[in-house]
Amino acid sequence: MSIKFKKIRGTRDIYGEEFEKLFFIFEKSREIFSKYGYDFILTPAFESKELFEKSTGETTDIVQKEMYVFEDLSGRKLALRPEGTPPVLRAILENNIEIPCKFAYFMNMFRYERPQKGRYREFFQLGAEAVGFKEPYIDLEVLLLAEDLLKNLGIKDYRFEINSVGCISDREKYSKYLRNILKDKINNFCENCKRRYERNPFRIIDCKIDKAKIREIKSLMDFLCDDCRRHHEILINLLEKENFKYVENPLIVRGLDYYTRTAFEIISDRLGAQDALGGGGRYDFLLKDMGGPDSPGIGFAFGVERLMLVMEDIKKKDKALIYVVYVTEKEKDEAIKWVRKIRENNLYADMEWDYRSLKSQMRKANNKGAKWVLIIGEEEIKREKVKLKNMETGEEILTDNPFKFFEK
Ligand code: AMP
Repeated sequence: MSIKFKKIRGTRDIYGEEFEKLFFIFEKSREIFSKYGYDFILTPAFESKELFEKSTGETTDIVQKEMYVFEDLSGRKLALRPEGTPPVLRAILENNIEIPCKFAYFMNMFRYERPQKGRYREFFQLGAEAVGFKEPYIDLEVLLLAEDLLKNLGIKDYRFEINSVGCISDREKYSKYLRNILKDKINNFCENCKRRYERNPFRIIDCKIDKAKIREIKSLMDFLCDDCRRHHEILINLLEKENFKYVENPLIVRGLDYYTRTAFEIISDRLGAQDALGGGGRYDFLLKDMGGPDSPGIGFAFGVERLMLVMEDIKKKDKALIYVVYVTEKEKDEAIKWVRKIRENNLYADMEWDYRSLKSQMRKANNKGAKWVLIIGEEEIKREKVKLKNMETGEEILTDNPFKFFEK
């Protein structure tokens, strides 16, 4: 056998235990987000390319190197969604949703990154956006919510790293300082950093390669204006009061242009090189930049595949499958009748649709983890009964009402 088609590099098939986990995360998160007053939203998988260029930012890696862009048949320039924030904000504005509002999402994202463990070209994000809240109290709520999610998924061994990236003018001051300091060193830096030096020097401190070369540098924190400093201090006080565990990490700048003030990442040492479970931050000017009102916002997203990697296996719900077995083709109609009757009673039933030997059917029942096997043979039909085998104890019962043995 030589199969003709394979999945595209960086994409994955999710089935079995992994699918169970994915759905468990979705269901659990719906519960938690509802508790915090968030509604779920689903936006289209593709949008205009310009939406991301103008909001994610033209200088970001996502827009410059990672977007799946294409033209549709009428020449529209489109992009597969690489991140959730711009589409969700676009939807809030386009649908005239009243601000303040809070939305959560569970959507697939597409980025042309180099695939490795925990990094794919199509992946799921579980995220949230809280729009229209200015004070740091919502920052606290978002952090508590993110932690509540992790706890409810049974994830341990994570840490919240928090920073303030200030406002645009703070970043301009910091960029100027960085350009000055790095002037003589930038030639030894990677090509990415050389590019960043001109457009976005503060993102050099986020560089995995060159991070180590820039230890002796002042942090962005030293350049915060009074308002941004106050915002950060209040948040830190709130976190202390809540006994929320976090570390301050001045190196967190996040990969996107729109972040202001609070920025954070959730790191797990169990993940390897791609160690971020999630991240987020404030974007106080993004809505206005997108043509909306002058309203601030804050959001975060977890990488669902990474949550799955650090989660314990979940206990499968006991399905109590009832497998119907027929001795010869002659009893097939009767077997089908039973399968349908069991399903009508909201129990799980299955059978072998193409006839196979009794032995093979019993093997299948066993492989599928059936709790009961209903055996139908000529003799049973004659006596208007069925033989019921308990697969756990091996006990066999002849009965005209098997339902009294099945627990719901
Ligand atoms: P970002 O939108 O880049 O802040 O990413 C938020 C989270 O999404 C990250 O912390 C990762 O957990 C996850 N993530 C980002 N990119 C990928 C990817 N290519 N594959 C899998 N997960 C990813």
